[in-house]
Amino acid sequence: MRKKRLMAPGPTPVPEESLLAMARPAFHHRTSTFMEMFQEVNEGLKYAFQTSNPVLTFASSGTGGMEGAVVNTLCAGDTALVVRGGKFGERWAEICQSYGVKVVPIDVEWGRAVEPDQIAKELKKNAAIKAVFTTLCETSTAVLTDIEGVGKIMRGTDALLVVDAISGLCADDLRTDVWGVDIVVGASQKGLMTPPGLAFVSLSDRARSAMSKSTLPKYYFSFQKALKSLEKTDTAFTPAVPLVVALSKSLAMLKEETLEKVLARHGRLAEAARAGVKGMGLELFSKAPGNTVTALKVPDGVDGSELYKNIMESFGVTLAGGQGMLKGKILRIAHLGYCDDFDLLNALAAIEMALKKMGYKQIEVGAGVVAAERALAESEV
Ligand code: PMP
Repeated sequence: MRKKRLMAPGPTPVPEESLLAMARPAFHHRTSTFMEMFQEVNEGLKYAFQTSNPVLTFASSGTGGMEGAVVNTLCAGDTALVVRGGKFGERWAEICQSYGVKVVPIDVEWGRAVEPDQIAKELKKNAAIKAVFTTLCETSTAVLTDIEGVGKIMRGTDALLVVDAISGLCADDLRTDVWGVDIVVGASQKGLMTPPGLAFVSLSDRARSAMSKSTLPKYYFSFQKALKSLEKTDTAFTPAVPLVVALSKSLAMLKEETLEKVLARHGRLAEAARAGVKGMGLELFSKAPGNTVTALKVPDGVDGSELYKNIMESFGVTLAGGQGMLKGKILRIAHLGYCDDFDLLNALAAIEMALKKMGYKQIEVGAGVVAAERALAESEV
């Protein structure tokens, strides 16, 4: 018998309450039962997104929300500034290019964060930039972007600030309204502790005014259509009812714990994860780590893909390997969503045991777990 433990940066484990809630018999969405629940969910999303603006819900993965953010705010031939420091920054650029939006990239070395000043410089140089696309947690490199800093340097400019917070939401702080973020994209399967299948988009007044001028093609992802329905607590198309049911439970848990404590819990786990990695004698990959995911460098002489496979097959723990140019070079531990101290200790123990099993001589089994446990004990909540 081998228990399975999910510690990847999405999909993340779903709490039992949310899973069980989905098991109720199907019901129609044009009913007071759904509308009352949807009303509550919409308020819960505003709380999670730290905004008083509307948050749209789509039945799609997070990328649908990203595509929607591009096609609802820009026109063909517009210019967008895109921070490319990993796979998901690259995705912003690819979506823009697919629709004929000119991309001015800021290419950041993978593992490092963009400096808000780099964005300020580009904005000064190029008055045509209509929007800046960036990522809260660049999941592929475990780098956290200083969105507050980016918001500060963008204040007073006409460009929209669009943030992919798909993995970072509810793990890394994102003060949408206070920091001046126009569009935040989220998804259900990460910090929101819900199965995959829902994308969310928050819209500032400035974003809504850009929407009225945007001419890029859209139909299902028309934010104006979705907004009109949302005003009546309705959806333009059939919503993913069971996922909304699960989300309502997960958002209730978030509200009960409070966002402040949820963020603190993620911060504490991330700190312990870093202590654990260092305690194992391994190196962290990210120079600007956040609370969502921790990336470690696979030590020399160890096959990273084998290590990932071994941790999953021999110890039942699903982590994430490296993507793109980092394939086989890093290992990522997510401490995201429905995750506690013992989930993290399990993951660290599995890494140590797999390294030992693979014949990596330098590993002293338990050293990482001890370091993480100490860090947790010292910062007990
Ligand atoms: N952006 C980020 C930062 C992500 O972590 C992910 C998923 N790993 C995505 C975008 C893509 O989301 P989805 O797979 O839900 O489309």
